[in-house]
Amino acid sequence: MFLGMAYHPAYWPKERWPIDARMMREANISAARVGEFAWSRFEPREGAFDFAWMDEAIEVLAKEGVKTIMCTPTATPTAWLTHEHPEILPVDEHGLLAKRFGARRHYCPNVPVYREYTHKIVAAMAEHFGENPNVIGWQIDNEVGDVYMLSKGRCYCDACRKAFIRWLEARYGALEALNSAWGTVFWSQEYTDWEQIVLPRRGTAGEGLNPSHVLAYERFFSHSWAEYTRLQAETIREHAQNQWVSTNFACGLARETIGTPEGALYQGGCVWFPCIVDWRELSQSLDFPAWSSHVRGTAFALSADYLRGIREDGNFAVLEGGGPRMSTYAAIARGATGISPFTWRRPLWGAESGID
Ligand SMILES: [Zn+2]
Repeated sequence: MFLGMAYHPAYWPKERWPIDARMMREANISAARVGEFAWSRFEPREGAFDFAWMDEAIEVLAKEGVKTIMCTPTATPTAWLTHEHPEILPVDEHGLLAKRFGARRHYCPNVPVYREYTHKIVAAMAEHFGENPNVIGWQIDNEVGDVYMLSKGRCYCDACRKAFIRWLEARYGALEALNSAWGTVFWSQEYTDWEQIVLPRRGTAGEGLNPSHVLAYERFFSHSWAEYTRLQAETIREHAQNQWVSTNFACGLARETIGTPEGALYQGGCVWFPCIVDWRELSQSLDFPAWSSHVRGTAFALSADYLRGIREDGNFAVLEGGGPRMSTYAAIARGATGISPFTWRRPLWGAESGID
């Protein structure tokens, strides 16, 4: 069981670290969740890794009995990476860039070159921190599949189209099976070659999309996030045998429960992020499921119950959450193995300077 707290040592002068560590101990915080958006400090230039500053932060925290939960920073591809490889940027339903550098989550999980860079940074981190006894576990990325990466957690780039076709080939085996399952005889949509299959974009097909085609793409993209998570989990485990691996899901409830195609927040008053990910599949590569909970009351309770039901052992955690006291009590009451509220201190700048 851990009581954690999101902490970003890179945002604060080193002189502050020992004070924060002491205050965490006094507040009975047993773990700090660090590194989640720190790629530009971990790899300031391509291939030039720098983990010494984080070693120091881990040591300062450990002196006060505070362990570390290490996060991979892949939700924030650096300026040098994005500039050098703009093809990693996600594309929306209309074929336009869904995101550019300047915020976060500006990547497509199916672009091969981004998967290569992901593997490189995660492998370097796991090799470096994997045997550090003060690091108890790992959080992969940050809120994969959330709706803020347009469109509703999906990308529509050419790498996705190629990957979608490969996924369809594996799923259906033969085009005849796909044509039959999708009912493509309707409106003359029958395919005679895999390469003819396009992505179900609203911008190109209007409102009359084949619902089976749309559903297949949702399933494919859910699988894409699960595979991207698996890539990181397996890379970490090559070097970190005694540390757990999880991630913070970007929603409160299952997609089938919250499924709102237009992505309204707090649908029914009981969810946070609508998203398209099948968390049961994604959880298969993790040691336990966990989520980012910025909900309260019954929403929190429903979400916790859902996570608890994913695994036979019922183990789950809250790796990010608001309302520390209430969330902590509610999570513990529902059997969580750990909780790590957001955040230790409000940053002085950036998009979350108004969030605590
Ligand atoms: Zn894509």
